[in-house]
Amino acid sequence: MKIIPPFRLKPEPLTEEARNLPKFKWATEEMGTRHQLGGSPQHIQSEFRPVCPDCKEKMTFYAQLDSINDEFCLADCGMIYVFVCFDCFTVEAFIESY
Ligand SMILES: [Zn+2]
Repeated sequence: MKIIPPFRLKPEPLTEEARNLPKFKWATEEMGTRHQLGGSPQHIQSEFRPVCPDCKEKMTFYAQLDSINDEFCLADCGMIYVFVCFDCFTVEAFIESY
């Protein structure tokens, strides 16, 4: 199983609407900034890796995508976790929240 070195992802608004999107009202500062490429997934069991449905090998953690604001909140300030199999290019994604 490949492991991708970690990158922080910083969203860059592409439109005026995106630039003016309201921030979280009550959530901590960290919410909405936890986007990441590679490394280890945050806030889920670090040993947890989905198994590829095609070849049954453990999948590589590819990215986590954070909730955006109160309007675009994933369950309770959750994140989308994406895993990939670099042999089959099968993708698994799921949401986890607190
Ligand atoms: Zn596979």
